[in-house]
Amino acid sequence: MPRLGAHMSTAGGAEKALERGQSIGCETIQVFVTGPSQWKTKVVATEEAERFAAAQQATGIAPVVAHARYLLNLGSPDEALWRRSIEAFWEELQNCQQLQIPGIVLHPGAHMGAGEEAGLQRIAAALDELRQRDTNLPVHVLLENTAGQGTVLGHRFEHLARIMEMVQDPSWLGVCFDTCHAFSAGYELRTAEGFQETWAEFERALGLNRLEFVHLNDAKGCLGCHLDRHEQIGKGQLGLEAFRQILNDKRLRGLPMSLETPKGPEMAEDVENLSILRSLITES
Ligand SMILES: [Zn+2]
Ligand SMILES: [Zn+2]
Repeated sequence: MPRLGAHMSTAGGAEKALERGQSIGCETIQVFVTGPSQWKTKVVATEEAERFAAAQQATGIAPVVAHARYLLNLGSPDEALWRRSIEAFWEELQNCQQLQIPGIVLHPGAHMGAGEEAGLQRIAAALDELRQRDTNLPVHVLLENTAGQGTVLGHRFEHLARIMEMVQDPSWLGVCFDTCHAFSAGYELRTAEGFQETWAEFERALGLNRLEFVHLNDAKGCLGCHLDRHEQIGKGQLGLEAFRQILNDKRLRGLPMSLETPKGPEMAEDVENLSILRSLITES
């Protein structure tokens, strides 16, 4: 069975995310390790890391996966923004290491008009520079497929494959598959035939062994609309059948999967979505 969870707030300390996750029955969670819309990094102190480790022991939630801040653009042709993105992402990788978080989800980047290949090269060069700073860093970078708004890269599985092909050490890279982004990028997941074709394409381009994390989000936009707008499970354009297929696919069994759907502070939407997802899993 897949391990299910949701993106959790770290307000009040990283360990609070685990406590919040446990309170609504998460088996895995995703967190930000610094403010998602700020350049300044909130460095994780040793005491916070210790409290986090203790909470992880106590809750049994695993894995915890991080999501990189939204401001980064490792594909930028602008030297200053590219540099700033590299340094900011480096600090997030350090926070992950401090919290013993094994993977961080990254939107690969946008080419800003320089062209796809130029953007992908830029991303690979940035990842190479980061890897060279610590070739033993125990944190995987999970390239997330994107909806492909504007000049954003990563909406084709081939983009992620090209990055992995170009970097010197692909062993520290993995993939995070987002259902909303895939559908918005044009990958069908609703029909049995479309679902099989999408995963056959994933297998051909990347290989399922690269897949380390899944984001379960319904989509506000239509197939191929390139709209990155998440919707509650079963209430968007994807619908329940897409999630039924994902949750019961033998190839995806055992993978951690997290919601990133809109919610209020009481997390009632997460509770409802997790309940729906669990109801779709058929015993086997
Ligand atoms: Zn994302
Ligand atoms: Zn996502």
